[in-house]
Amino acid sequence: MVGAGLSGAVIGRTLAEAGHDITIVDTRDHIGGNCHTERDTATGVLVHVYGPHIFHTDDAGVWDYVTSFVAFKPYTNRVKTTARGQVFSLPVNLHTINQFFGKTMRPEEARAFIAETQADTSIDTPQTFEEQALKFVGPDLYETFFKGYTMKQWGCHPSELPASILKRLPLRFNYDDNYFSHRFQGMPEHGYTDLIARILDHPSIAVHLDTRFDRSKAGEYDHVFYSGPLDGFFDYELGQLGYRTLDFERFTHDGDYQGCAVMNYGDADVPYTRITEHKHFAPWESHDASVCYREFSRACGPDDIPYYPIRQVKEKALLADYVKLAETTENTTFVGRLGTYRYLDMDVTIREALDTAQGYLDALENRRPIPTFCKSPL
Ligand SMILES: Cc1cc2nc3c(=O)[nH]c(=O)nc-3n(C[C@H](O)[C@H](O)[C@H](O)COP(=O)(O)OP(=O)(O)OC[C@H]3O[C@@H](n4cnc5c(N)ncnc54)[C@H](O)[C@@H]3O)c2cc1C
Repeated sequence: MVGAGLSGAVIGRTLAEAGHDITIVDTRDHIGGNCHTERDTATGVLVHVYGPHIFHTDDAGVWDYVTSFVAFKPYTNRVKTTARGQVFSLPVNLHTINQFFGKTMRPEEARAFIAETQADTSIDTPQTFEEQALKFVGPDLYETFFKGYTMKQWGCHPSELPASILKRLPLRFNYDDNYFSHRFQGMPEHGYTDLIARILDHPSIAVHLDTRFDRSKAGEYDHVFYSGPLDGFFDYELGQLGYRTLDFERFTHDGDYQGCAVMNYGDADVPYTRITEHKHFAPWESHDASVCYREFSRACGPDDIPYYPIRQVKEKALLADYVKLAETTENTTFVGRLGTYRYLDMDVTIREALDTAQGYLDALENRRPIPTFCKSPL
C-alpha cells in the first residue's frame, strides 16, 4: 500500500481483516496523508497541518465506519467572508442578501428581487463560470462573493472556467448558514491522525514512514495499491498533470483572533483566500492562545504538494494518456485523490477505499483480473 492516508489505511485494514499481510509505505514522517492533524506544543491547539478538514457525509455506512474507531464531536461548519469592508455570512443566504442590499426581505421577496432586478436574463445557456453567476445572481453579488475569491483560488478569470464549477443557483433563500447540507457532520475528538492510527492498528499491518515507493519495487508484492500521484508513478514521462497548491502562513495569537474557524477574503486585492483559526475546529476544547493559517493558492510546481487537480481540457487529455499507460501496468491499482487525479472528500475517499478492497477480494475469489482503477479517473 503506497500512502498512509485515508485510502491506504482503509484498504489496508479491510484486506488485513480478510487475512492478507499489508506493508504500507509513505514518504512523509507521519501517517494521515493530507488529513494529518497534530497538537501544537506551545498552545495545545489541534492543528490541521495540510489545511482544515471537516467530516461530512450522507453515507451512513461511512459514518458508522469512522465512528466505530473513534468518537466524533459535533461540529457545524459556519463560514464568514470579509468583502468590501464588511463581514457577511456564507454560503450566500437570506442574511447575506438582506445585509448586502440593506433590506429586510422574506424568502419569496428575496427570490423575486434577485430574479427581477439582479439576474442577467439575457444569458440563455451559460458556458463559463462568469456567465453562470451573472445568470443566477447578477453582477453585484457575483463581483462581491464569487469573482475575487475564484480568481485567487484558481489563478484565472472566471470567464476561463467552465459553468459546471458553480451550482445552478448558488443562493439560499433562508437563514441556513451550515456550510454543508449532509446528514452527518463532525470532527474526530482527537484529530484525524488519531482516527487513521486506529484504522492502521492491526497485527497484519506494517507501516514504514520516510520510505519512498517507486515502480521498480512493484514485483516484490502480490499487488500494489498506489495512492500517490498518477503521473509521479511514471516519473512524469508524459508531462505533469496540473494542480493548484497552497501556501500556509502560520501565525499565533494571544486570545481569539477572528471569532470563527473560517474567514474567507472575497476581495481580489487581498492576496490570501482565507484565514483559518484552528482552535475553533474543536469547540469542545478551551485554549487561551491560538494558531491560525493564512492560505494562499498558486500554480503547483514540481517540488510543491499537489492539492487541487485542475481537470480542464488540457489536463484531461494528458490524464487520458496516463490512464492508458496505467492500464498496461501489472499488479497495480491506482486509488485515492492523487492516484485518480480527482478532488475527493474524505467520505468519498473512504467509500471508494472500502469498495476497492472488496472488489479486490471478490476478484481474487472469482479468479477475475484485478482492475487498474476501481473508479475511472476520466
Ligand atoms: C486543502 C484541502 C482541504 C480539504 N478539506 C476537506 C474537508 O473539509 N472535508 C473532506 O471531507 N475532505 C477534505 N479534503 C479532502 C481530503 O484531504 C482527501 O479526501 C484525503 O486526503 C484523501 O486521502 P488519500 O489517502 O487518497 O490521499 P492523501 O491524504 O494525499 O495520501 C496520500 C499519501 O501518499 C503518500 N505518497 C505519495 N507518493 C508516494 C510514494 N511514491 N511513496 C510513498 N508514499 C507516497 C503521500 O505522502 C501521502 O501521505 C481536503 C483536501 C484539501 C486539498
